[in-house]
Amino acid sequence: MEKWHRQTQAVHGGTRRSQYGEMSEAIFLTQGFVYESAEAAEARFVQAGEDEYIYARYGNPTVAMFEERIARLEGAEDAFATASGMAAVSGALMSGLQAGDHVVAARALFGSCLYVLEEVLGRFGVGVTLVDGGDLAAWGRAIRGDTRLVFFESVSNPTLQVVDIAAVSEMAHRVGARVVVDNVFATPVFSRALELGADVVIYSATKHIDGQGRCLGGVVLGRRDFIRSTLEPYMKHTGGALSPFNAWLLLKGLETLELRVRAQAASAQALAETLEGHAALARVIYPGLAAHPDHALAMRQMGAGGTVLTLEVKGGQAGAFRFLNALKIIRISNNLGDAKSIVTHPATTTHQRLPEEQKAALGITPGLVRLSVGLEHVEDLGRDILTALQAV
Ligand SMILES: *Cc1c(COP(=O)(O)O)cnc(C)c1O
Repeated sequence: MEKWHRQTQAVHGGTRRSQYGEMSEAIFLTQGFVYESAEAAEARFVQAGEDEYIYARYGNPTVAMFEERIARLEGAEDAFATASGMAAVSGALMSGLQAGDHVVAARALFGSCLYVLEEVLGRFGVGVTLVDGGDLAAWGRAIRGDTRLVFFESVSNPTLQVVDIAAVSEMAHRVGARVVVDNVFATPVFSRALELGADVVIYSATKHIDGQGRCLGGVVLGRRDFIRSTLEPYMKHTGGALSPFNAWLLLKGLETLELRVRAQAASAQALAETLEGHAALARVIYPGLAAHPDHALAMRQMGAGGTVLTLEVKGGQAGAFRFLNALKIIRISNNLGDAKSIVTHPATTTHQRLPEEQKAALGITPGLVRLSVGLEHVEDLGRDILTALQAV
């Protein structure tokens, strides 16, 4: 692997050119591949060589370019691209577990991740213990001799709690458990998860990697033996393959990922500082603020606060709704990491399904608002927010 800087990898890493020498990466919108002879087909089914393909559910040149490029950015040995972030999460969990295994996971998780852990794995005889991700003693008590896998979001949604990757990984590795980190909020730009001890890193590429709200995608990164011997057979036979067209969008997304994410995080930091202490807000939650309980950990682990900030608007749900409805630039939606700033009211949308006690335990209060900061000028965003807060 060439010793290029990340920015160079993001633009050139993994490029494969056809006989035409195209500048921009080609989209191989093909489900299958033609063999020179019956013998060649037989040989490829016995053992496909480097850059030899059989069927798009198993692999495709455009998908391979995306996998190689993001593996280089993340510093991972290998990567497998998937149809969505959830295909990546479910594949990484299901492919390496069997009945009787024990899993420990942080309680503050994306709703669909919680469904896979509690509903799906539970039905197949995998025991799951949920802990407060910020409580290292709780991790220590929950991780047992038969724990095979540990799973958490490195920064939780929507309350932005930061989990100590190095400390949890060390505890998990003592019993030989695999550490799987959902790293969406950290983004590949601010990720040091593998370096800090995680075995497997997952992204919903739908978020910052596309970053323009165009498609779904996901990726699992880790050591080659896990990716090729455990994950790949499971993924290629269960059907979570990434479309070559989406792989191409994501590949082009990687070229500008660093620029976009750094600009978005700088704006998020500036907005958090502006809004801290505002009379209409009970709290401003952002790991880049010194007042955030995990500030030091966030700086050590990511070097930045990320592109999302969470506000607690005074006046509960009514106050939050008045704020959302008064915004002019920032749109009400539920994606994040997009070039367009997006505001979400978790209690009534993304986390609506959770019982009230669970919402309270996770800090998802009626006034809580998640703000994904986009690429608009920060002064326009600041004015939009401050004006809308007057409506509260
Ligand atoms: C969005 C998201 C997912 C799921 O990704 P999809 O691409 O929507 O399937 C998983 N984990 C986190 C933290 C997310 O934000």
